[in-house]
Amino acid sequence: VDEPGLCSFTFPALVDRNPVVLSVSSDGNAPMLARLLRSRLELMLPANYGRIAQLLGELRGPVAERITDPAQRLRFWEDLVDGPVAELVLAGREAEARTHITAVLARTAGVRGEVWLVGAGPGDPDLLTIKAWRLMQKADVVLYDRLVAPAIVDLCRKDAERVYVGKRMAEHSLPQQDINALLVSLAGEGRRVLRLKGGDPFIFGRGGEEIEALAEHRIPFQVVPGITAAAGCACYAGIPLTHRDHARSVRFVTGHRRDGAVQFRGDDFLDEEETLVFYMGLVALPDICRGLIEAGRDPTTPAALVQQGTTARQRVLVGSLASLPDIVASHDVKAPTLLIIGGVVTLHQKLSWYEGGASD
Ligand code: SAH
Repeated sequence: VDEPGLCSFTFPALVDRNPVVLSVSSDGNAPMLARLLRSRLELMLPANYGRIAQLLGELRGPVAERITDPAQRLRFWEDLVDGPVAELVLAGREAEARTHITAVLARTAGVRGEVWLVGAGPGDPDLLTIKAWRLMQKADVVLYDRLVAPAIVDLCRKDAERVYVGKRMAEHSLPQQDINALLVSLAGEGRRVLRLKGGDPFIFGRGGEEIEALAEHRIPFQVVPGITAAAGCACYAGIPLTHRDHARSVRFVTGHRRDGAVQFRGDDFLDEEETLVFYMGLVALPDICRGLIEAGRDPTTPAALVQQGTTARQRVLVGSLASLPDIVASHDVKAPTLLIIGGVVTLHQKLSWYEGGASD
C-alpha cells in the first residue's frame, strides 16, 4: 500500500455500513487525505445505516408490484427516506418502521387490504383448489391453524409472512376474537391476507364469524370453498356418503359441544337411510355410539373412524355402533378423525383403494 509504484491498483479508504459502502480514493496521491475524508464521512453515517438499505432492499419487489408507475415509485422512495422511517430504523424501532411503510404504501398505491378466507382441504396438498393455490401465491401474510398440513403452508409464496393462530378443539392458541381482530388490522394496513383453514371454511370452521368481523369493518373479502373432511375422508376410505342401496341423505354433525354433552332427542337420528358424519367426535365417540343406541338405533349399524384422512397417515377402523368404541380404544388413534355411521360403511371393504402409509 505504501509503494504505489509497485501497485497495479490502490486500496481505497472504506466506510462500511454493509450493504452501503463508501470508498474514498486519491488514486495513490494522498492516502492520508482519503483517510481524513473517510473519518469525516464515518461521522455522517450512523452505525446501523446499513439496516435502512437492507429494509428498502427487502421492499423493492413488493413496492414495484404495488406501484407500477416509475415516477410515482421514485417519489414513494424519496418520501420514505425523508420521512420518519429512517429515524425509526436508526432508533432500532424497525417493526414500527415496517408498519409505517405498509401504511404509506397502501395509501400511495390506493391499494386496500383484503382478506381471502380459503379452504385448504383435508390434508393431501393435491386436493387444494386452483383458486386456493393462486391466492396462496399472492398473499402478503398467511394465517393458518393446526388443521392445515405443513406441506400445504409450504406452498404459499416464499416471502409471505406466516402466522400460526393455532386452534385445536379444546386449546385455541389465539382466541377467536383475537383472530378476527388480527384479520381486520392486517387488512387495515393494506395487506393481502390469506386466512387458510382446514377443509371448507364454512363447515365447522368458524369462517362465518371471521368474515362477519370483516363485513362490519367494510374490509373486502373473498371466500374459497375447500374439500371438507367428510368428502375427503369418504372418498379416500372408499365409503360413498350416499348410495342408492344404503343412504339417500347425509348429515354433518359436530361431536363437540360447548357444554360437552351429546344428546339425541326424539327420532332425529333414527333414519336408517341417512349417513351420519361426526366431526370433532373422537373424545365423545363412546357417548355418541351409546346415545344413538339408546335413542333406538340398531347396535349393529356399521360405523367407521377415519384417522387423518387423505394423508399418508390415514387409517380406517371399522366396526358397529356397539363395537367401534372398544376397537378405537385398543388403537393408538391420532386426531383429526372423522366418524361415519350408516350402511354405506359396509362398502369400505370392497371399495377401499387408498392405503395411506401408517401401520399400528
Ligand atoms: N372446516 C373443516 C372442519 C373443521 S372441524 C372441514 O371442512 O373439514 C375439525 C374436525 O374436522 C376434526 O375434529 C375432524 O373431525 C375433521 N377433520 C378435518 N380434517 C380431517 C382429516 N384429514 N381426517 C379426519 N378428520 C378430519
